[in-house]
Amino acid sequence: MFAGAEKYDVDVAVDERAVERLLSVRPGDVDAADRLTFARNVFIPLTTACRYTCTYCTYYDVPGEASLLSPDEVREQCRVGADAGCTEALFTFGDEPDDRYTAVHETLAEWGFDSIHDYLYRACEIALEEGLLPHSNPGDLTESQFAALREVNASMGVMLETTADVDAHSGGRRKTPGQRLNTIRAAGRQGVPFTTGILVGIGEDWRDRAESLLAIRELHERHGHVQEVIVQNVVPNERSDFPKPDLSTMRRVVAMARAALPPEVSVQVPPNLSPAADLVDCGIDDLGGVSPVTDDYINPAYEWPDLRGLEAVADAGGAPLRERLPTYARYLPDDVRPAGAGSAPDPDGREAWIPAAVRERIAADDVHGRRLRAVARGDGPLAVRSD
Ligand code: SF4
Repeated sequence: MFAGAEKYDVDVAVDERAVERLLSVRPGDVDAADRLTFARNVFIPLTTACRYTCTYCTYYDVPGEASLLSPDEVREQCRVGADAGCTEALFTFGDEPDDRYTAVHETLAEWGFDSIHDYLYRACEIALEEGLLPHSNPGDLTESQFAALREVNASMGVMLETTADVDAHSGGRRKTPGQRLNTIRAAGRQGVPFTTGILVGIGEDWRDRAESLLAIRELHERHGHVQEVIVQNVVPNERSDFPKPDLSTMRRVVAMARAALPPEVSVQVPPNLSPAADLVDCGIDDLGGVSPVTDDYINPAYEWPDLRGLEAVADAGGAPLRERLPTYARYLPDDVRPAGAGSAPDPDGREAWIPAAVRERIAADDVHGRRLRAVARGDGPLAVRSD
């Protein structure tokens, strides 16, 4: 059983024979994708407070030093992003700030919010007002928190990282695999199109990688909600000296991800952290959210490539580059889905994956609605390509 699974009553079982099969997969066993996608986003680190202290992480700040963006700052960032043609407001946190972050809690209270999650709800409303689709990564959530936040999000995410109990998560305050699986399950039960992924090189072994991918698959098979799985390598930084996994490791683990997951679930590598051009033939079909206007605040030493850089990755794989919304096409309303794209069945029987506020944002008769619909249909605003 995964660490923490008992506490959260996580009932995810991984079949041993499937693990063995996955361990035998090599890059030559999977097909390259016929296209590569990406989303244009503005990265908004709502707070750098986090209750945990993962050893490889440079995102969190300790109590007294953590930042908290004001509503005006959120609005300004969204405006800059929308003006630059972005479609996604990517809201990131650490995990819910604990009692040590008194300044964060006091400021939220002054602004009239009971919790960081109440504030996230408002931040998402601001993003919608400014013409962007919110995609929130707020760490672990309960089902009732998803029920509230799904009303204003186009999609959401949290990295599983690994099902292994690794030292990188150790310490007095630590996240556990059971807790993360519980969050992914809760998102599925609430019908939230969801992004998750594994982190490669934090002390897990090959079997752990296979189990992690199969655990994600099982939760997707139950709820149909996993739209993409990120295969992210750890990178050295000022807080950790975990070595970056080498290319052959990344090629094998990407191929395992492609083999483990159903075809509708995308396999993504972040092009600022991974040698993406050398992974296209191992089955990646997505390059994730890339921002023309903000840094990757989680890995600030690693710059995102521009559109030309993404085109170079796609060219290396002989695949066309396509822009997408943060929400994958199959979860979108019928009238904005590209021709030929099917709709995602919902095993839990909801009427729509996308909440009314987001549907209205996409349908609005304004410059933002037109941009969102054009990207959804696959005919804009991707540009550059002058050769
Ligand atoms: S990786 Fe996430 S949960 Fe861990 S310390 Fe960083 S922000 Fe917090």
